Amino acid sequence: MHHNEQQRALVLFSGGQDSTTCLAWALKRFAHVETVGFDYGQRHNVEMSCRAPVLEKLPPLLGNDHGALGDDHVVDAGVLGALSDTALTRDAEIRMTDSGSPSTFVPGRNILFLTLAAAIAYRRSIRNIVLGVCETDYSGYPDCRDDTIKAMQAALNLGMETDFVLHTPLMWIDKADTWSMAEEIGGEAFINLIREETHTCYLGERDIRHEWGYGCGTCPACELRMRGYEKFRSGKQS
Ligand code: ZN
Repeated sequence: MHHNEQQRALVLFSGGQDSTTCLAWALKRFAHVETVGFDYGQRHNVEMSCRAPVLEKLPPLLGNDHGALGDDHVVDAGVLGALSDTALTRDAEIRMTDSGSPSTFVPGRNILFLTLAAAIAYRRSIRNIVLGVCETDYSGYPDCRDDTIKAMQAALNLGMETDFVLHTPLMWIDKADTWSMAEEIGGEAFINLIREETHTCYLGERDIRHEWGYGCGTCPACELRMRGYEKFRSGKQS
């Protein structure tokens, strides 16, 4: 069975909280959903190892009313690791640089990932590309901005002579609302899946378990996730 291109989506899926939420969002909207992950020599391959359990456990949580989960594509983007000198790919300290971007910024990462994803989508007759970038909590990453994504959509469509639609369901919401979105889509069971199986911590810490999941608790990614979770839970009580 082959679905109409407009009912097919490709999700950039890293194994983190945001892309896991986007995957569930896509499964609720499209008949056929494929995933793509990029291996680029991250210091800690923890995120990549979170992908398989999420792919296995997420669909059953969504009830009967969701699309089919199709192929998972893993792309070797090691060239990024070879080129980059940042905290995610080297053992450099995480800090703010003089330019105002955190040292975890990998120049061109999302631009490269989107280009590779579009190349896969083109060959798979997929029209929709979904990614979990966010301008609200964007931590200073310029390639997460709405303008960047809109420009990429135009560039990809011109360059491949096609009509991809880039979806960014988290663009204008904060981390607390990302937790709320997950709850709306998959209830407490999905919240628990995110807490237990997804990974966000920059340091790759998987031994310390907090209310909001595993992580060091002090790096910028852990702080965002923790503060969002606390706001999400306190918002529910008031
Ligand atoms: Zn951390």
